[in-house]
Amino acid sequence: MIGAAVLQALAWVALLLARAVHDRFLSTLWITLLGASLVSIWHAIDCWLERRPGCNFVRAVAFLTPMGYGLGFDSYAWRVGWSNAGLAAMLGAIVLACAWPAGKKGRRWRGVVLVAAAALMVVTLGRGILGAFFTSLYPELRTPHPLNVAGAVLQHVALALITMALLAAWHEEASAALQQLAITDGLTGLLNRRGAMEHAGLAFAMARRHHEPLALILVDLDHFKRINDTLGHEMGDKVLQLTAEHLRLCLRQTDLSCRWGGEEFLVVLRHCDQAQAMEVDARLRTLLQRAGQAQLGSPVSFSSGLALLQDADMDLDALLRRADTALYAAKRAGRDRLCISGTD
Ligand code: GH3
Ligand code: MG
Ligand code: MG
Repeated sequence: MIGAAVLQALAWVALLLARAVHDRFLSTLWITLLGASLVSIWHAIDCWLERRPGCNFVRAVAFLTPMGYGLGFDSYAWRVGWSNAGLAAMLGAIVLACAWPAGKKGRRWRGVVLVAAAALMVVTLGRGILGAFFTSLYPELRTPHPLNVAGAVLQHVALALITMALLAAWHEEASAALQQLAITDGLTGLLNRRGAMEHAGLAFAMARRHHEPLALILVDLDHFKRINDTLGHEMGDKVLQLTAEHLRLCLRQTDLSCRWGGEEFLVVLRHCDQAQAMEVDARLRTLLQRAGQAQLGSPVSFSSGLALLQDADMDLDALLRRADTALYAAKRAGRDRLCISGTD
């Protein structure tokens, strides 16, 4: 977008110097740079919304417009008609690029770009038709005719709007991506502890308010240090990814799983009683054992602690502490098992 603005600025410098230096060459350069700035706007939209139709069309028109303008420079009606038709066609491609389905992406800003480009397209096309077919009515571009002043104002307002809308859209998306990144674990793609605290806090509050069951399982891989030491750190990473993959397989969409830290995972099960939570744990245990054997040559086992929400749990930390104590009990009892808080 910065490129488009720079190209626009250079275009108008070329036009200002045209009369004094070399009218045909610099005016053609002006049209070339205007076309190039529209191409770069089109590409910015293509990058932003992904795979827009008309890439070759825009490039071809951007090439043919100054060509025809330069070659037919001696005919005023031709060069005005041809160049404005070309620029209007490129603006049409920008309108189409914005209107083409792109899901929810850029919903807020696409409309602004679309309306600004469409307005500019209509005015540009109007200028082309006036210049080509009603040449005597058409004021020369550099005269201070009201039509020129209005056109210049609209052009700058529309381009400023397009630039601002695209920059704002990108900024919005970049900050959303950054926010997502801040709560995601890079290795497994699961939520990290920070993300889990946000989501689990919400699940805890909802469950307490509506007196719904809530289960929390802390999972800790057994002898993981040994896996690292014997099979290597890379294999250790693979085991973590495998665990995350199978956690996703075992859980419902409303459940939550996260990498709590190192080789520990937290699972939050909404509307889930003890029997269902034990089932989830058992399923994960079987899946991981099998997958470990099949993919790494040795079964992967884990110990886990389950805590079910009770009235005495005043905050999420209380529930977490109970799950952690149960996990510790599972380790002490010989690993590869689930212990349930309050049932020892
Ligand atoms: P226990 O059965 O008692 O849980 O034993 P353990 O070996 O699993 O537990 P311990 O806390 O002694 O060791 C955890 C190891 O996890 C140590 C650390 O190097 C390793 N680890 C932590 N994060 C990562 C990681 O991102 N990748 C790999 N490969 N290893 C990790
Ligand atoms: Mg651990
Ligand atoms: Mg461990």
